[in-house]
Amino acid sequence: MARSCVFCGGTPVTNEHVYPQWLAEAFPEKMRTSRAIMGSYSDKGSLRRHSGRMFTAQVKAVCEPCNSGWMSALEGRVKPCLLPMIKGEMLELPPEAQEILATWTLKTALMCQVMLPQAQPNLPPELFTDLYRDRQPAEEMKVFCGYMMPPQYLNGPSPMENRSVPRTVGHRKADGQVYEVWATVVTIRIGYAVVQLVSAGPKGLRYELGFEGSYIEPLWPVRETFSWPPRALKTLKEFDVFADPLRQVGRSLPE
Ligand SMILES: [Zn+2]
Repeated sequence: MARSCVFCGGTPVTNEHVYPQWLAEAFPEKMRTSRAIMGSYSDKGSLRRHSGRMFTAQVKAVCEPCNSGWMSALEGRVKPCLLPMIKGEMLELPPEAQEILATWTLKTALMCQVMLPQAQPNLPPELFTDLYRDRQPAEEMKVFCGYMMPPQYLNGPSPMENRSVPRTVGHRKADGQVYEVWATVVTIRIGYAVVQLVSAGPKGLRYELGFEGSYIEPLWPVRETFSWPPRALKTLKEFDVFADPLRQVGRSLPE
């Protein structure tokens, strides 16, 4: 089956690395071949766990002009702030850096979806074409960052991991009609840096998230300059809670 570019619709598509090769610079030689944990959850809450060599993961979903054009330019722009974050170094994040990090988070979250195909995609296809058109997240999206000491798993450290958690919630309007709201949270940890995309729909849906705790810093919508890192996410349990902020709202239909 001939596939066309998930972003621009162009053909042909070529093999593209999900994670850019420059990320390897942030890790010691021996960690560069470590396996990364990739978790993908279905809407029923069941986890599909994958692991793979992080710097060799490739997908055939993007055309050469996108790959070597705007995507490559985005990698070049994000590297000066993301590389120190991956190493756990302090830095200031002015609004321009917040926008670049938020855009990169969205792009990488989308590429992770292509890598972990779902029967029902966790993020709708128009998010790819919207990013191609706008080159920044949609106004109503939310992007966050955090800081975490890379955790020790039973089979050794995972230099990076990503989790994709979808939720759908039934809402009842004043007239009693029920409509469905979906939200997907994609969390990506690379070394010490944690970034997270929250996307919800139907398109244009406005919502607020009542996050607790000083270990989460908003990146999008952009705001005034702040210092990274925030307070560390210390335990895997804290990371689990951070990676699934909608677990409370995903349960019951409001009366
Ligand atoms: Zn393209």
